[in-house]
Amino acid sequence: MNILEKLNSIKSQEMTAKENVENYIKVIEEKNEEINAFIDLNKEQAIAKAEEIDAKIANGEEVGALAGLVFGIKANINVEDFIISAASKTLEDYIGSYDATVVKKIKEADGIIIGINNMDEFAAGSSCETSYYGKVDNPAAPGRIPGGSSGGSAAAVAADMCDISICSDTGGSIRNPASHCGVVGFKPTYGGVSRQGLLDLSMSLDQIGPVARDVEGVALALDTIVGYDPTECTTLKLDDFDFMGAVAEGKEDKPLAGMKIATCAEFRDVTDDNINAIIDEAVAKFEELGAEIVEVNFKYIDLCLPTYYLINYVEFFSATRKYDGRKYGSRIETVCGDEVLRRIKMGSYISQQEFSGKYYKRALQARTLIRNEVKSMLEGVDLVVGPTVPKLPHKLGEELEPMEMYAYDVLTVIANLAGIPAGSIPAGDVDGIPVGLQIQAKPEDDLKIIKAFSAFENAK
Ligand code: GLN
Repeated sequence: MNILEKLNSIKSQEMTAKENVENYIKVIEEKNEEINAFIDLNKEQAIAKAEEIDAKIANGEEVGALAGLVFGIKANINVEDFIISAASKTLEDYIGSYDATVVKKIKEADGIIIGINNMDEFAAGSSCETSYYGKVDNPAAPGRIPGGSSGGSAAAVAADMCDISICSDTGGSIRNPASHCGVVGFKPTYGGVSRQGLLDLSMSLDQIGPVARDVEGVALALDTIVGYDPTECTTLKLDDFDFMGAVAEGKEDKPLAGMKIATCAEFRDVTDDNINAIIDEAVAKFEELGAEIVEVNFKYIDLCLPTYYLINYVEFFSATRKYDGRKYGSRIETVCGDEVLRRIKMGSYISQQEFSGKYYKRALQARTLIRNEVKSMLEGVDLVVGPTVPKLPHKLGEELEPMEMYAYDVLTVIANLAGIPAGSIPAGDVDGIPVGLQIQAKPEDDLKIIKAFSAFENAK
């Protein structure tokens, strides 16, 4: 049963919301100890909420667009009465005192929040190995990293512990774990979804989005969470976007006719051969679906990681100054892990007055160059496709140097630096290890990606 069929069967009382919750609780009880995808749960509250929804349906009352669907929320997004630790010891006792805008919207649409997903500490990572609550296993490739930083979110969805997870993406944190765990993840245009209530990693790059097992799950969530928020000044007025409409368009005959889809040589050059082979097959499928395939170039690929990490260090350093142990939590420097400490130290160093011209200003200049290059890459084409991650997930326990870890992000940080929408969809596997395909588009062309994803999924 796909997610839409489930939603309809809950609304028509063939299945109850309570059954949906209880099924997931069973899986969580069976598997979570091993996978470690959830770090806080409230089963009783979820069942009570499900009963409320079932009663409304039985009484013929109107229910919301997500009625009875079960959600996980990443540990850096505020949910009232759950521990919102960002997977750090710093905030281990911090209980969410309000609902983030996205959470409010999900609750209003009758989505059920069952728990909080594990992640890399403060979302600073690509492997989910840095959580204070322990590593996350990859349900699709056991013994390997699930990717990060939203590894708990993608693993929870891949292991059938919830319908949808809501998480954040600063440099790939939705798309990278979606790729490694064989699920669908989407980062909207910067400003598409309100960040109010998100503990920021790097605020000029952070964006909230969904992970689900199919494109419909992602689209359903987006229809609820995308839109203007008067309390968050960077949000755009994309309220009339119809993501489910785009899914339906993707199921028509030759759905991609008239679309120009580009591949990019520089993306291929940094990627492992066995991953490129899978992407090539997918591109052939896009052509069968009616798209015209063209080639584009992106000349600043080498500039992306240094630019991204410099900006990330500086903005993260500034974001962490509130964790001084006075207002909430412990003083971050005294309890955090190595990667978070590295970023704070580097950020503090770079932020010094005398260095600002040397590093941060240059990073901002490089960002402008990258943005312009992205703009010209996308000019005249509808979409750019390629791999989401250039290499396969390593085995848990393997030690990587920081630069090796950062190398996972080379293809995902581009969308954050440019503020464009990007998503990842399963495209195949290498010896059972999932490989994701990434699609990027112009700002506010989110629906085109969803339409192409729907067409691709439907053609499988
Ligand atoms: N891996 C990247 C980093 O460590 C991206 C993280 C993210 O998107 N939150 O910064």
